[in-house]
Amino acid sequence: MRHHPRKRFGQNFLIDPYVIAKIVAEISPQQNDYMVEIGPGLGALTKPLLQYLDHLTVIEIDRDIVAQLEKQFSPEKITIYGIDALKFDFSSLGKQLRIVGNLPYNISTPLLFHLSHYSESILDMHFMLQKEVVERMIAKPSTSDYGRLSVMLQYHFNMRHVFDVMPQSFSPPPQVNSAIVEMIPRPQTQKIARDEALLSQIVLAAFSQRRKTLKNTLQYYLTIEDFYTLNIDSGLRAENLSMQDFVIITNFYDAKSGE
Ligand code: SAM
Repeated sequence: MRHHPRKRFGQNFLIDPYVIAKIVAEISPQQNDYMVEIGPGLGALTKPLLQYLDHLTVIEIDRDIVAQLEKQFSPEKITIYGIDALKFDFSSLGKQLRIVGNLPYNISTPLLFHLSHYSESILDMHFMLQKEVVERMIAKPSTSDYGRLSVMLQYHFNMRHVFDVMPQSFSPPPQVNSAIVEMIPRPQTQKIARDEALLSQIVLAAFSQRRKTLKNTLQYYLTIEDFYTLNIDSGLRAENLSMQDFVIITNFYDAKSGE
């Protein structure tokens, strides 16, 4: 396939057969999996995945690439959605989705937030991302990488840094190192925030001014007495709270405001 890489679509194509084989082995595709690839590009992962799968669904924004994919693969093997993955309703595909992709780095954070709304439709996900983003996703409280992305994704998914990928494995090489991450939705029974939209609001407020204490950032939600009741030090900052602490605060505020 001949194609001039488009920067605006984050097009860094995988060219390293060893890395491609390692990613596919990690995904471990099974014949009847309902697999969805975001950003198939020139097919670096698409082709080897199709050696195992009966069928693959792909979502690709670049119309020129869509046209080439339509020529290259038969509609029995591949369903192509030529649209923006950020606007795609993943629940429309059904359940038990296995989502994979070497993601466009310029939209990776909004895309991860978008996908977190569909965790009930997802079996697992394997993505290539900027290494720094993977470090933020899996970061522990009280570290500099820990933030809103960590808390919200850790609420929805169990995540694992699988392995790193160097820039030379792509064409053109990106400016940054990359890494593969595995994301598996947490069981619904463990996701006990009574209002997930409220959890998201509270986490956003807490991290909106990272250097300020919770007493300031959460003043709309919690009084000093509330902090005592919850046994949370109001002099801490958002980065010191675990995802579970945020869930406790959310459920407390939800109960209080419903009284
Ligand atoms: N999978 C290919 C590979 O590994 O070589 C291409 C990966 S490249 C990093 C990212 C791909 O995502 C490109 O094909 C790009 O056109 C596509 N893309 C960029 N933004 C997108 C979006 N919002 N929705 C769907 N696809 C997008």
